[in-house]
Amino acid sequence: MRTLSVVTVPRPARAVIALAWILAAAGLAAERPATGPDVRAFPIQTETRKELTREYAKAHYGIDDWRLADPALIVVHYTGTDSDDHSLSVFTPERLAASRGEIAAGGDVNVGVHYVIWRDGTVWSLLPEDAMGRHAIGYNHVALGIEMTGSSGERVTDAQIASCAALIADIAGRRASIRYLCGHHEYVQEGRAHRRLYRELAPDYAPTVKHDPGERVMAALRKLLKETHGVTLVD
Ligand SMILES: [Zn+2]
Repeated sequence: MRTLSVVTVPRPARAVIALAWILAAAGLAAERPATGPDVRAFPIQTETRKELTREYAKAHYGIDDWRLADPALIVVHYTGTDSDDHSLSVFTPERLAASRGEIAAGGDVNVGVHYVIWRDGTVWSLLPEDAMGRHAIGYNHVALGIEMTGSSGERVTDAQIASCAALIADIAGRRASIRYLCGHHEYVQEGRAHRRLYRELAPDYAPTVKHDPGERVMAALRKLLKETHGVTLVD
């Protein structure tokens, strides 16, 4: 909780703020707030993926749409590989690879997330935030997904956690519907507040046990979010 106080703005900052106001008045201000991370584009959305996603949403959530209306939850993952290139390319195919037998019964659409963060902290945008992804059984109808390159929680870098915190703060600042944050390993834990969002209509299709991104990453992420960005989301 922040307390209201009179903030003294140093002179150089005053000049920046004045310039920002002039640019805004002239309609020249950047659309993305200056506090948000730089985001590069690696679009994976296609008409086929939209259709396969709509089929998935209908079967699992009773929603006849590929769109994500008002995301309430952000789910954080690691990709399971230390290769940055593979961490992006694995999401390119529209259809699920045959090797993903454990979730193949859930539908044809490939796994997909909204953001991938490389080991150096570079943020990539894959799916638009108003499109449903496939990354967390029971929550895709309400969740944005962020993946970080890494074969384990220990391999996730400080740069990735810093970028992830900045990205989440940016999203939460732009979207009032975002209230919850969880790590993939936390998604089926009893007592978590986000559990109220869980929905799964398909019999015999249950969440699998996950270990990503792990306690260390989520603790560091939540600390940074709170202390650096002043953002606290419910788990
Ligand atoms: Zn995951």
